[in-house]
Amino acid sequence: MTTNNPDKGVFPWGHDRRFNAYSNYFRKIYGARVQKVSIDAGFTCPNRDGTIGSGGCTYCDNNAFNPSYCLPAKSVTQQITEGVEFHQWRYSEAVSYLAYFQAYSNTYASLDKLKKLYEEALSFPGVVGLIIGTRPDCIDEEKLEYIKELSERYYIAVEYGIESCYNKTLIRINRGHTVEEAVMTVKRTAELGINTGAHFILGLPGETREEMLDQVSFISDLPLTTVKFHQLQIIKGTAMEKEFRDNPGDFQLFSWEEYLEFFVRFLERLNPEIVVERFTGEAPPRFLTGTGWGKKRTDQIVNLIEKRLEELDTWQGRLFESKK
Ligand code: SF4
Repeated sequence: MTTNNPDKGVFPWGHDRRFNAYSNYFRKIYGARVQKVSIDAGFTCPNRDGTIGSGGCTYCDNNAFNPSYCLPAKSVTQQITEGVEFHQWRYSEAVSYLAYFQAYSNTYASLDKLKKLYEEALSFPGVVGLIIGTRPDCIDEEKLEYIKELSERYYIAVEYGIESCYNKTLIRINRGHTVEEAVMTVKRTAELGINTGAHFILGLPGETREEMLDQVSFISDLPLTTVKFHQLQIIKGTAMEKEFRDNPGDFQLFSWEEYLEFFVRFLERLNPEIVVERFTGEAPPRFLTGTGWGKKRTDQIVNLIEKRLEELDTWQGRLFESKK
């Protein structure tokens, strides 16, 4: 079964953009732009401190993705204050904020500590909810029950780094969890009525382009509210940089032109009910090994992908085959 043709330019998600876009999803809920404000609350990661593993995921350098105002030495309130100021300067129309617990594993602490940090963020004027980034093996029933309670009063989403649907890849990148653990946690979170997000990296070593594309049916079957994709970027000083230097043939990195064509095919097969938050990632050039996309910015890639969808008269989910 394929998604029906759009009716007069309006797609199943209720607007005329050719994918189920995150910004429009929040406009529908809040009637206005909602801006995420990143927080580094000083969490660590069980895949770095020896609890699950050491050394971390081979591609990981959190500094490459953390905005400069996020420093764990500052309180949650201070970081939100600075984040709001930063975004007010860039986007004058933002009216509501989501506190984004972004750096490392943001459920990796006692429940009491989580309550204190999350509730401090939620008490900030204009903050309407939380996005909590974490690992699928770093949350338990007690924490989920608490998050479920919060969800009854605020917009709360738990966003899991899954990265690949192949265990061979998860082993190779030293994720320290399996695909099966990720599926179990995603299902349990969604079952409790909590908005559930996931993050995937396209271009991981050892995966062919066909394997990358085939992941779309795995992702489409998960009970996700939102999903984020990044093309693989190789960050200086990571274990992956060394691996890339030693075995470049194992990597099928995308040029931005290749990614554009690939991502259109990917979107056509993706479940139209899943809101897509990101198509690409953009680490600052000083962190990249020279494998980046030069001056091409994320918003340019989004525009080009939307233009390509239009040229091909296609859209998210056009070729989606529901198994329900
Ligand atoms: S990517 Fe996330 S889970 Fe992996 S080492 Fe970095 S912080 Fe930990």
